[in-house]
Amino acid sequence: MIRQGVLLTGSGTVYIRRYCRRRRWRRYVSGRLMSGLVLLFLLMVTAACCYAVVSCYSRSLMPEVSEIIMEQADAVSVPNVRQIPLQAEYVMAGFAFTGGYDSYYAGPTEGVVKEPEEIRIALDPGHGGVDDGCVKGGILEKDLNLSIAIGVKERLEEMGYQVILTRDSDCGLSLKERVKLAKKAHADIYVSIHQNSSELSNVNGIELYYSAQNAGDDSRRLAERIQEQAIQDTGANARSIFEWEELYVIRESAMPSCLIETGFLTNAKERGRLKTSEYQGRIADGIVAGIDQYFNP
Ligand SMILES: [Zn+2]
Repeated sequence: MIRQGVLLTGSGTVYIRRYCRRRRWRRYVSGRLMSGLVLLFLLMVTAACCYAVVSCYSRSLMPEVSEIIMEQADAVSVPNVRQIPLQAEYVMAGFAFTGGYDSYYAGPTEGVVKEPEEIRIALDPGHGGVDDGCVKGGILEKDLNLSIAIGVKERLEEMGYQVILTRDSDCGLSLKERVKLAKKAHADIYVSIHQNSSELSNVNGIELYYSAQNAGDDSRRLAERIQEQAIQDTGANARSIFEWEELYVIRESAMPSCLIETGFLTNAKERGRLKTSEYQGRIADGIVAGIDQYFNP
């Protein structure tokens, strides 16, 4: 009827025009609606994909975070376990987990004593792989650091302590990876072992570093005990204990931490001593005695 309407004149023509306008309008609206729905669908698919990726990524980190938060609950009932706020490393997928704490044992402060078997120590032999550290007289710092760290590990394990080495061979490791290993193991302390160098060839002795930002009091006490005992066992020159915030591993480890420079490779006399296994053993004895005193004052 209407298709025949083209033949009509007057009011019939007006009707057809209106009808065509309405059809165009409907087509326009339904077209817009369709493209809107398609866009919405695509947005939903994209959002779902993003959510899947983010939640997979979060889940891969989540156990660490929840473990720590669960430990926090345990820590509250144990008086001699101290807590430290979680570091920014636990910020993931844009969400910051800053409310949690990690906990560590710092010696018997209120009567409860942990046995060495319950105490975990992270040892970090500095440098490794392509990073030789300081090199002097054919001695590579990375080799000395590893040799001393292995000596410390063996002695501590004989006493019953649990020990984690950040590296047990000549491999390269970033500072972040070293800290992450210690955190993942929920170590109670972190000790980094290095050799020193100076432009002045007469400079010699043992010096230590700690960060006031990271369990400041306990870190300082750990550094002091290790310094005392290492000097006693080696007879080396006692240099300072420095509060230093520039060293990543002792600042970011979220547990009492210190870094020991066991001697100067640039001092010929000290280098001569450092390369002998006998002297390395004495350094290891000193570090071990210092750690043991820290936990059993
Ligand atoms: Zn070094």
